[in-house]
Amino acid sequence: MKERLQAMLDTARGAVSEVESEKSLQDVRVHYLGKKGEMTSIMKSMGGLSPEERPIVGALANQVKEELEQLIEARQGDIRQVEIARRLKEETIDVTLPGRRRFAGSKHPITLVTEEIVEIFSSLGFGVAEGPEIEKDFYNFEALNIPKDHPARDMQDTFYVSDDIVLRTHTSPVQIRTMLNQPPPVRIIAPGTVYRRDSDITHSPMFHQIEGFLVDHKITFGDLKGILTTFINCFFGENVGVRFRPSFFPFTEPSAEVDIQCVICGGKGCRVCKNSGWLEILGSGMIDPEVFKSVNYDPEVYSGFAFGMGLERVAMLKYGVNDLRLFFENDIRFLRQF
Ligand SMILES: [Zn+2]
Repeated sequence: MKERLQAMLDTARGAVSEVESEKSLQDVRVHYLGKKGEMTSIMKSMGGLSPEERPIVGALANQVKEELEQLIEARQGDIRQVEIARRLKEETIDVTLPGRRRFAGSKHPITLVTEEIVEIFSSLGFGVAEGPEIEKDFYNFEALNIPKDHPARDMQDTFYVSDDIVLRTHTSPVQIRTMLNQPPPVRIIAPGTVYRRDSDITHSPMFHQIEGFLVDHKITFGDLKGILTTFINCFFGENVGVRFRPSFFPFTEPSAEVDIQCVICGGKGCRVCKNSGWLEILGSGMIDPEVFKSVNYDPEVYSGFAFGMGLERVAMLKYGVNDLRLFFENDIRFLRQF
C-alpha cells in the first residue's frame, strides 16, 4: 500500500512538471485527485487493511494527497507567471510615441446662424414650424398664388419628382400648411432645406432658408418694418443701416426687399456690395389676399406679413465667408474656425 502511494506520487510529480498549460494541469488534477481519480481508488481499497495498519496508511495517504495538491498549486503559479511574462512582452507600449490629439466637434456655421435667428424671433413671440422637403405642387406654388404659367415654375428652377410633386423651392409651403391647420393669430418662423436647379459660386442646388410670418387683426406694413428692423439690429448690430426697397413676389402685396448697410465696407462701397454700400438680405411683404383665400382666412378680417431669407447668405455676411461652396464641402479646416 505504501509503495503504491509512493509510486503514484512519483508518476504524478513527473506529470505535473511536464504540463505547460492550466488546462492540462487541470486534467492531471482530475486524474489523481478527482472523484474517480487514483487517490480515491487507493483510499477505497484501505478497507482491506488491518485495524493497526489503517491509521498509519491513512496518515500517509493524507500526506501524499497534501503534497500532490501543493505540487499542482506551485505548478499553476509557475504557469501563470510564464503567461504574464509572455503577455507583457507582447503588449509592450512604446511610451515615447507622440499621442494623438482628439478634437472636439463644433456646430456648422449654418446651424449657428439658424439657432441665433430662431432665438431672436422666439424672444419676439414667434414659434417654430417645419414641413416636408418633398412637397405637393399645391403647397409649394398653387396656394402661394403662383399659377401654372408663372416663370418661378420653370423647369430650370424646380426639381420635379412628378407632375404634382416637387422638391420644395422655398420654405413658404410651411406658411400654407400652418395656416390650414390653425386659425389666426399665428406667429411662426420655419427654417429648412430647399432645392433649386442652380449651381455656381453663389448658388447651390441645396441650400437653407428661414421663413417667417405673422397674421392677426390690423397688422400693417409698420409692424413688418418694426419686427424686421429689430431682428436686423439684434443680428447684425444696433448701428447697421436698414432700407426697404419696393419689389415683387407673387405671394405678397405690397412687397419689399430689405437691404442692410454693407458689413464689409460700412457703406463706402466695395467688391462684395458691388460699390453700392448696401447688401440685400431678405424678401418680405404683406401676405396677398389670394393666399389667405387658399387657406380659408378672411382677408377682410385678417392681415399679415411674411418674409424669407437665405441662411447661407446671412452666414456669409456674418462670418465674412466669400464662397458659398465652403458651407457644403465640410472641410474640417474651415469648420473648425467656428
Ligand atoms: Zn461693401
